[in-house]
Amino acid sequence: MFRSALLAATLAPLALGCGGAPKPSAQSQTPADFVLLGGAVRTLDPARPEASAIAVRGDRIVAVGTDAEVGAFIGPETRVERLSGRTVIPGLVDGHCHLHGLGAALESLDVRGKKSPEDVARLVAAEAKSRAPGEWITGRGWDQNLFTPATFPTHAPLDVASPDHPVALTRIDGHALWANAAALRLAGVDAKTADPPGGRILRDATGAPTGVFIDNAMDLVTAKIPGEPPEVIERRILRASERALSLGLTGVHEMGIDDATIAVYRKLASEGRLPIRVYAYLAGGSNLAALSQRKPDVDPQGTAMFVLRGVKLFADGALGSRGAALLAPYADEPKSTGLSIADRNTLTEAARIIADAGFQLAVHAIGDRANRDVLDAFAALGEGRARALRFRIEHAQVLAPEDIPRFASLGVLASMQPTHATSDMPWAPARLGPERLRGAYAWRSLLDAGARLVFGSDFPVEEPSPLLGLWAAISRQDPSGAPPGGFMPEQRVTLDEALAAFTTGPAYASFTEATHGRIAPGNVADLTIFSGVLPADRSLLDAKIDHVIVGGKVAFGAAIPKPEAP
Ligand SMILES: [Zn+2]
Repeated sequence: MFRSALLAATLAPLALGCGGAPKPSAQSQTPADFVLLGGAVRTLDPARPEASAIAVRGDRIVAVGTDAEVGAFIGPETRVERLSGRTVIPGLVDGHCHLHGLGAALESLDVRGKKSPEDVARLVAAEAKSRAPGEWITGRGWDQNLFTPATFPTHAPLDVASPDHPVALTRIDGHALWANAAALRLAGVDAKTADPPGGRILRDATGAPTGVFIDNAMDLVTAKIPGEPPEVIERRILRASERALSLGLTGVHEMGIDDATIAVYRKLASEGRLPIRVYAYLAGGSNLAALSQRKPDVDPQGTAMFVLRGVKLFADGALGSRGAALLAPYADEPKSTGLSIADRNTLTEAARIIADAGFQLAVHAIGDRANRDVLDAFAALGEGRARALRFRIEHAQVLAPEDIPRFASLGVLASMQPTHATSDMPWAPARLGPERLRGAYAWRSLLDAGARLVFGSDFPVEEPSPLLGLWAAISRQDPSGAPPGGFMPEQRVTLDEALAAFTTGPAYASFTEATHGRIAPGNVADLTIFSGVLPADRSLLDAKIDHVIVGGKVAFGAAIPKPEAP
């Protein structure tokens, strides 16, 4: 009651206007469904970077401006939220993540942060007790860089922990799999099994598999894990969506999903049950041969909750497992230059099929050789094609200096994950050596060279909170503030640049820059509201999410107060 009385008292005279130019009166505007007043609105719209108020009708922003200007949109039914200085930004979008993967990770054994293979095995043993005999135990998050010595584990401790249940544990980066003997038996893998193209089976001195599989070799084991029924996929998506919304995300770019997962997304979206906007990429593989029979989704209004318009491919593996394809050998493994999952010719052929079918291509490329192969493949499509279809490179993690300007000249989007830099900084210098390190996690260099940046987290590889990514982007420090001064601090960007890479960047990448990524009249009302200011220092990490609005509806946070009867 107090709220609306105060509003009526303060707004009425303002709405009638005291400035020079004639102002529309309250009566001449179709009232908004709700209005936000008294906020610190960072619009990311160059035409009006700052404002204090927003009016929303249906799923659209209808006005942005001062409290007085926007007050003209308050009618008798209009709900009003007084923000008292709280910060509103365009809805944050994670430009590269695995939403269904997050749901699966939330339900699977979490072995992150464990300091020895035995610590991991203890968790597996406990899990085995609660599972039916023979049921697979899957988990995620081990990292041999945390072990002493920092070497890959073997199946032995998992055999002791779980002799009867097959075990398959994915490395933190998703590019290596650690299995026990029961899983090796089911997969039919032994000393005679050859390494598949783009993959490696780690072996002991006798040639027997040690239990660790790199990149494409992982499929030897994972192909034996039974698929999940649709109701499990749905439960995981919904659970992960709630988590993502609670962290301030209004949308995600879902990377590399299969047709079973796509079917569940389509069903959720058509039933109005998908609470977060999902722009998705099909996991490309043998299905490319039939791609010309599929059509990319289009979303001219920017209002669809699920859009499948892209295909995701892999050019190489990851740096942590030395699967990234480098131009010169690893500084800490001089015999290896890593693995090409798809070489330049394969990528060129795939890129042409995907472009001809009208799909957008996103290629995972970590090493400088993989990035060059992808850029060459995109260039081979001919003038302007990669730009028109907004082709992207995922991670763009290690770049030769001469390749950095090619992102802008070819119109290729650099999709990067700021927290990868701060997660990898303890060991990336050893893998790369000082010279190559200069082109690693080089988002400032890319931006200065005119590239478009898209930021994301790659969750569940990293934590899903976009605040962690914003902080890593502006500081090159981990959440504790280490290292002092930042890791390669010359690659820092400003908070505004980082916010753009989480808003306008993903909007462009999803062909929705006309309706998303900025707070402007006519744009879709996807908004992230923080409970205070957004500082450009470490207290940024303390920012709390107050409201998340997707398509004009509160998707997280308290309902916006209804007007009191006069
Ligand atoms: Zn990923």
